[in-house]
Amino acid sequence: MYDYDLLVVGSANADLVIGVERRPAAGETVLGSDLAVHPGGKGANQAVAAARLGARTALLARVGDDAHGRLLLDSQRAAGVDTVGVLVGGAPTGVALITVDPSGDNSIVVSPGANGKLTPGDVRAAASLFHASRVVSAQLEIPLETVVEVVRSLAPGSRFVLNPSPPRPLPDEVLAACDPLIVNEHEARVIAGGSLDGSPEDWARALLALGPRSVVITLGAEGALVASSDTTTRIPAVKVEAVDTTGAGDAFTAALAWRLGLGEPAPEAATYAARVGAAAVTRQGAQESFPTAEEVAAP
Ligand code: ADP
Repeated sequence: MYDYDLLVVGSANADLVIGVERRPAAGETVLGSDLAVHPGGKGANQAVAAARLGARTALLARVGDDAHGRLLLDSQRAAGVDTVGVLVGGAPTGVALITVDPSGDNSIVVSPGANGKLTPGDVRAAASLFHASRVVSAQLEIPLETVVEVVRSLAPGSRFVLNPSPPRPLPDEVLAACDPLIVNEHEARVIAGGSLDGSPEDWARALLALGPRSVVITLGAEGALVASSDTTTRIPAVKVEAVDTTGAGDAFTAALAWRLGLGEPAPEAATYAARVGAAAVTRQGAQESFPTAEEVAAP
């Protein structure tokens, strides 16, 4: 009865990456490597991750009428994402200007561009996508008022998943819709209002008290934790040689959202998502690193 397993509402950015010997100080100019341009943004990443696993996926996002926008549309289509919901124009495509030094430390400037122009009106105009989608996933690289409209637009019976990144305090209306709220430690701390004591189990309890139906805390190489009002389950990480953790959280979230929509219990869905996140860290890049279902199934 649903046309899409997953509708992702979120950002699409071009990541412009330059390697440097040393990141420049104020007023300084340094020479760097050739420019590399990669499709990115948490919304676009999640959509590609889900589609590559075989989920029927749509993206609701906004890009500029420019070469970066076309790059993003191409990468979505190549992964099999339905781009009927990708709006074009209103501002340049969002970009992240990234300098990386030999130790792997980076400095990033983000220009939200068209992402900042994805409005509540755009969400209302996409009502048919919401009615066709089993699960709707969002992040916070688009205006918060747009995320509020996403929650108000959910079709009866569909499920909402939120990764509040970059984190900021959330209105009760958004928190109450999350099933689950997916956070890493930093995001958990901001959502909880700054203080988080004790173990991840304690953090989960503190977050559940804010109203989400369930909580998933990602713990990097330590795996994840799944919590609802009655149970808390630790999900061990898959042991891998980590090469580049960029996009691991996006891949984990997309996989989890998809499997929950298929009706899997949260611990099973998170166990699968942990395999997807682990596969993503074994390869360079974000979208380029996301595995297919066959790669996840491989021993
Ligand atoms: P974020 O990028 O949002 O901070 P994490 O780094 O916690 O998210 O990664 C998300 C998930 O990806 C983790 O819960 C884990 O399952 C998997 N993962 C991340 N890093 C590793 C790693 N080094 N080894 C194995 N799995 C990992």
